[in-house]
Amino acid sequence: MKYAIPAWDCPSVPVAGGALLYPVRHIYCVGRNYAEHAREMGGDAAKEPPFFFTKPADAIVPVVPPDVGHVQYPLATKNYHHEIELVVAIGARGVRVAPERANALIYGYAVGLDMTRRDLQAALREIKRPWDLGKSFAQAAPIAPIHPVSEVGYVSRGRISLEVNGAVRQQGDLADMIWDVPHVLHFLSQYYELLPGDLIFTGTPSGVGAVVAGDVLVGRIESLGELKISIDEAVAQT
Ligand code: MN
Repeated sequence: MKYAIPAWDCPSVPVAGGALLYPVRHIYCVGRNYAEHAREMGGDAAKEPPFFFTKPADAIVPVVPPDVGHVQYPLATKNYHHEIELVVAIGARGVRVAPERANALIYGYAVGLDMTRRDLQAALREIKRPWDLGKSFAQAAPIAPIHPVSEVGYVSRGRISLEVNGAVRQQGDLADMIWDVPHVLHFLSQYYELLPGDLIFTGTPSGVGAVVAGDVLVGRIESLGELKISIDEAVAQT
């Protein structure tokens, strides 16, 4: 059978240092996984189970250093925020996975940005509606190349930071996560069978804030390199 309309390519992220592409199936994200960020968002740092939201697979914007990725200022927001995050790329299926077995599901790791329309997210949260409009939109998930476990091992600590126009806005250490990666996979796999191609954004350290057109963002995670994007003007009316 032919497609009724032209089909599009599977969204994919380059694997670092080679000619391979990692195909993207689902994008899951963890809310509030660093205590300081939980407090800045008006919550507390009590160790409750993690919660999750999603983005569409085609929200990724793959960027290979030294390139600078271009992301358009999104529709319908006046408060567009950066959240620098460790991204886990799944390479094997798993459901209801015990934390001590969860690392075996991991293909690799990347530096990613959970870009957020904070004004929409906050307004929706206020009236107890889903966060989708705040988190799930075009180009909402810039991502640098994936570093396979075979190259970098299992990543559980290391500096994570984000600069905007050369000034440090966010910094922390992966070891400061409220729930470490094996526990995130454990909890998430109670709700979904994790599948090869699934990306998991694991939460952001404190210091989130707004960006505007013309800003240049550089995110870094020790051992995983950097992710650089610039914010372009919003799309003109069509
Ligand atoms: Mn986030």
